Amino acid sequence: MVESEAHKKYEFKRMLEALRDKRGRGTELISLYIPHDKQIHEVSSQLREEFGQASNIKSRVTRQNVTGAIESLLSRLKLIPKAPENGVVIFCGAVDIGANKTDMQTFIIEPPEPIVSYKYHCDSSFLLTPLEDMLHEKKTYGLIVLDRREATIGLLRGKHIEPMAHLTSTVPGKQRKGGQSSHRFQQLRLIAINEFYSRIGEAASEVFLGVDQKDLVGVFIGGPSPTKEEFQNGEFLHHEIQKKVIDLFDVAYTDESGLYELFDKLGDALQDVEVVKEKKYMERFLKELVSDTGLASYGEEQVRKNLEMGSVDTLLLSDELRKIRLTIKCNNCGFEEKKTITKKAGEEEYQPGNCKQCGSGLVIQESVDIVDELSTLADQMGTNTVFISNDFEEGNQLFAAFGGIAAILRFKTGI
Ligand SMILES: [Zn+2]
Repeated sequence: MVESEAHKKYEFKRMLEALRDKRGRGTELISLYIPHDKQIHEVSSQLREEFGQASNIKSRVTRQNVTGAIESLLSRLKLIPKAPENGVVIFCGAVDIGANKTDMQTFIIEPPEPIVSYKYHCDSSFLLTPLEDMLHEKKTYGLIVLDRREATIGLLRGKHIEPMAHLTSTVPGKQRKGGQSSHRFQQLRLIAINEFYSRIGEAASEVFLGVDQKDLVGVFIGGPSPTKEEFQNGEFLHHEIQKKVIDLFDVAYTDESGLYELFDKLGDALQDVEVVKEKKYMERFLKELVSDTGLASYGEEQVRKNLEMGSVDTLLLSDELRKIRLTIKCNNCGFEEKKTITKKAGEEEYQPGNCKQCGSGLVIQESVDIVDELSTLADQMGTNTVFISNDFEEGNQLFAAFGGIAAILRFKTGI
């Protein structure tokens, strides 16, 4: 089993998809978020209170389902002496399984990031937003907007801008007052500008060094010309931060609204940075596809063959891939076959039908997510596995045109 970050993220994403489809007949699905420092006995006593209140529910079926779910939660909690490091989430309730039936289902999840607040939530669907938020981008960008009078420093996380510092200068205007020598005036003005740039540099460095450096992808600077260029060329930022400056943009405002103006201008620059690695892999694959060396392969069967031969350098999997590899067997005559099916969460179980050899009913012996199957195979062969998102043209192409499965090869196999 591959335990890369990308793989964990993929699994987490899939699990949320499955939970998202689950519905209760009424307001009877319970979501329980328990942070690490919350005492379990406190949670239990709160649940017992909810149990008491549930007796007021008018609909008999809903009442029974809610109290049933709370009882089930209480018995689960007995097995958890203390919430794990990131806390624990328990989903429980009578899930509608069609054909006028419900099924009491429980899911226990250790989230990839800490749960911030305790939540007891009862609704016709499970509460997933706190977990969905964990899927969002952790990548952070530093933003600086400045002119000679004012500067604002902020952080961009995902699509969210946090203003962090605001500075104003005492740099005099270009017009000198009477009685002052022009030369002296210009000198003082330059010194004041330089001092202001230093203050901006220090404040920005402090803010950006406060971010986990592995999450700080880059810094963008906005402002009028030539101010922003002067600031960039003068290297007023901490040398580690200075290295991370990606680009400069013309921006008219230098207060908080300037940060938003800068963000609007980033557009493509930002998009490129986030998907740049995935894009490079896809470009390499597409280049190999048309070249004489032919170090490219795509399609499930072809790539699996190459993987088994050990000829795959990099396995490219679309993170939209939703397929299952089944091993189907006849218990009567021993006939066995493998089959890949597309399965969406909430769909009915696949029916394998009858044996081609003897006509008896076939059974599903094994059912594996194709991503697990292929990435395990890749692991055994020392192949690098890369997940490709659908958010850019080539990524979408991998999913739509190549079935979501492709490979860059170590040597040409013709498969
Ligand atoms: Zn058979």
